[in-house]
Amino acid sequence: MPGTESTAAVILGAQQRAERVSQAGPVARRLTAAGVTMVALFWVDNTGVARVKTIPLGRLERAAGWGVGMSPVFDVFLINDDITTSKHIGGPGGDLRLVPDLERMAILDGQPGWAWVPVDRYTQDGRVYVSCQRSFARRMVDEARAQGLELRASFEIEWALGTDDNGRFVPACTGPAYGMTRVIELSDYSRELVEALEREGVVVEQFHPEYAAGQLEISVATADPVGAADDSMLVRQTIQAVSMRHGFQASFSPSVVPGTVGNGGHVHISVWRDGRNLLAGGPGRHGLTPDGEAFIGGLLAELPALCAVGAPSVASYLRLVPSHWAGVYQCWGRENREAALRLVTGSSGEQDSRSNIEIKCFDLAANPYLVIGSLIAAGLAGIRDGAELPAEIEGDPAGLDDDELAARGIGRLPQSLPDAADCLERSTILRQAMGDPMFEAFLAVRRGEVALFADADPDDIAAQTRWRW
Ligand code: GLU
Ligand code: MG
Repeated sequence: MPGTESTAAVILGAQQRAERVSQAGPVARRLTAAGVTMVALFWVDNTGVARVKTIPLGRLERAAGWGVGMSPVFDVFLINDDITTSKHIGGPGGDLRLVPDLERMAILDGQPGWAWVPVDRYTQDGRVYVSCQRSFARRMVDEARAQGLELRASFEIEWALGTDDNGRFVPACTGPAYGMTRVIELSDYSRELVEALEREGVVVEQFHPEYAAGQLEISVATADPVGAADDSMLVRQTIQAVSMRHGFQASFSPSVVPGTVGNGGHVHISVWRDGRNLLAGGPGRHGLTPDGEAFIGGLLAELPALCAVGAPSVASYLRLVPSHWAGVYQCWGRENREAALRLVTGSSGEQDSRSNIEIKCFDLAANPYLVIGSLIAAGLAGIRDGAELPAEIEGDPAGLDDDELAARGIGRLPQSLPDAADCLERSTILRQAMGDPMFEAFLAVRRGEVALFADADPDDIAAQTRWRW
């Protein structure tokens, strides 16, 4: 995949604008040759929803240099499109420029004639907007790089495929979990989806039927962190398009049908120095290096606050129940699918390249750019402070009684959005990393959604959020 880390200048001055306009010319010619006439410029808001402005291809050069307008009020949109407000952001005033990252332009296979491009949000005077989530992710990548660290990441995408019958989810297939029958039932759909992704330049590693009714999953190759977040959006938008062409809808909601297994959005991340993976080849447990342990220790310590970022919806907490492979305990373990942090070491012979830490408690209601930026901030704090990694946990912590959990120092992660939001509010690491305006707006959206669903039961919450992402 093309890189994404060096494209947006911090300040768009006259020279940068002129360069961007001239770079857009060849891109537009390539798109014309491929039959593209429309371009979707998207960004992801604080509810995890991709919001979009679209332009005819003829406007691409102008948009590349000057962006297109969009209000900052979208930073305080709730999942039902109600609007809240926050300390620094909210209200009808102001305007921002959505500036496309031309290097991430993709021709959408699932939507003939359309191209797709992530944007960075700038102020009208050409500065990176304080609450631009994608720029935040890039800033954290840059901070890691300044310390000699590189990161690789990927997002697993789970979705439930089906239709809606008066508010009831009807799965698109009936075969068993992980069963070949599901692949037979959805043979053309699955093949066309993977083909579409590959034509878009996404490296698909695997497609499989998941556990819950109608649930499927795609894993893609790792990329640089911002690229991985972009990929996760491209994969989801392609899944939506191909699903609709087959007469289905795709739900990425954490809880499609309450009481059953939900959709996760597990994140895999590894940290490298001088081309060497710090999660392999070291003297520590399972080959961890001291900095690798400290990175994971930083994630583990910050996990309750990170839940508000990675599991940001009221619906997220319908998914986060023990013994559902969602990782609801604040602990780590090698290949432990009930630990919030699962150390994936890979097979002997490829551990140096494959070892990574999987964050299992996150879901796809999360803004992937905020997830990336926040994970890096927590991991870097761990390295800075020499965070220690406690003993690992084998087996399901749900099988331990309270005394055993206490003796091992394991707690449950937040069990509701208000709890998670309180943890986030106390996190100086994440507040400092995001900066006050972004942090306060993000928090205000969490509080707004808590109030929105205060009287809703799980079935209402699921019905009202099922098709929003
Ligand atoms: N669907 C599970 C979740 O909610 C994850 C299943 C798996 O381990 O892949 O996270
Ligand atoms: Mg899965």
